[in-house]
Amino acid sequence: MNIILMGCPGAGKGTQSAKLKDFFELKHISTGDVLRAEIASGSALGKEVKDLIAQGNLVPDGLMISILENIIKTADNGVILDGFPRTTAQAEALKGMLAALGKEISKVIMIDLPEEEVVKRLSSRRLCRECGKIAQSVTESVCGACGGELYTRADDTPQSVKHRLEVYRRDTLPVINYYENSGKFVKINGNQPVEKVFEDIKKSLEEVK
Ligand code: AMP
Repeated sequence: MNIILMGCPGAGKGTQSAKLKDFFELKHISTGDVLRAEIASGSALGKEVKDLIAQGNLVPDGLMISILENIIKTADNGVILDGFPRTTAQAEALKGMLAALGKEISKVIMIDLPEEEVVKRLSSRRLCRECGKIAQSVTESVCGACGGELYTRADDTPQSVKHRLEVYRRDTLPVINYYENSGKFVKINGNQPVEKVFEDIKKSLEEVK
């Protein structure tokens, strides 16, 4: 099963991916996490993308496609793609990549959230450096799940959030149009408790092998 999880920044893609990964035993590929790990390690790639990400811009398609190509080969049991594709060029490349591996997309799930809610969530969230869980609080400094240190993402500043939403509307909404008539597209209401969103996603996957 190969799932694409779409939705604007803050829609809950990371949270739902983690749950789907455990439930269906899939490989979770978050391109944002891959890039943040490169930045943290101080690699040449990390240095190249650091400013782009902090400003809320997209990393160039060519670079993202080659990163994904390397990771996707290692996923035998299927993948959850979280944060890829973000442009129609990436969507086209993904189709070719999967076809070359004899695979295809099983479902494209869009988590839908009103923009006011997105801004509220992003401006009040912190992430755990250890387990990656999101804490919807700017005052807590320790993760409630594992005790790890909480931090604010460099691109969760009001200026960067505003720009990320503009980039999403400009570059990523066309990807939704690209998949909308594929017969594999489903929209889920993300403005509900996490468990209810998860139930709705699982229901949408009932007929998918
Ligand atoms: P995310 O964690 O998915 O919100 O991604 C954080 C940032 O990483 C994005 O704002 C982009 O700068 C970069 N990024 C992640 N995935 C992609 C992608 N598929 N294409 C281009 N840039 C990406």
